[in-house]
Amino acid sequence: MEVDFSNIKVIGFDADDTLWVNETYFRDTEEKFAELLDAYETKNKIDQELFKMEMANLDIYGYGIKGFMLSMIESALDLSNNQVSQNTISEILNLGKKMISHPVELLDGVEEVLSNLMGKYRLIVLTKGDLLDQERKLEKSGLSQYFHHVEVLSDKKESNYSNLLEHLDIDVNEFLMIGNSLKSDVLPILNIGAQAVHVPFHTTWAHEMVAEDEMVNNHLKLNSLKDILKYLDN
Ligand SMILES: [Mg+2]
Repeated sequence: MEVDFSNIKVIGFDADDTLWVNETYFRDTEEKFAELLDAYETKNKIDQELFKMEMANLDIYGYGIKGFMLSMIESALDLSNNQVSQNTISEILNLGKKMISHPVELLDGVEEVLSNLMGKYRLIVLTKGDLLDQERKLEKSGLSQYFHHVEVLSDKKESNYSNLLEHLDIDVNEFLMIGNSLKSDVLPILNIGAQAVHVPFHTTWAHEMVAEDEMVNNHLKLNSLKDILKYLDN
């Protein structure tokens, strides 16, 4: 599609599954969680119950691994009718700790894109999740040097974006957001009048899915982050 990025001065990057791998580790952990509880329920049922628990807890825990760990424990108690062993609870905690300490795996072309755009645009990171965890990942990624600003939001709704742009004194007409989630990185950005580029990751969390009728055509969709360099002045 035709896009015009000539006004753009500030580019916001989502982090999880845009700069580095994230969702894959959640899927792997869900597999292991289901194995731990296979005496009580089928894998399908365990997956469903865990997701329901995460959604029920989202408002109180927010996004991130620690909330996920608590939801796994609560689901284990529910699914086992409080019979789950202390040993299994301990293993669940270890699954979460392993996720937290996992090395950061950058996605293809990330460094190339950031080093090309740095100096020509103001680059910022806009991620949601647990503050400590996201700061740790950014540090481990070695990408901090490319960014003017890093913001860890509690959510990515229109109001979160509008407030942040106002706070950072960024004109919506000069802002472009790049991310893997239509729901979090694209739709709210288009709704506030800024521009967005969608770079899908192969795995999407059910919570981040949007219905077909919410899909809009006024944004660019790329297969790889690297392709953005064809559209931006660099
Ligand atoms: Mg993401």
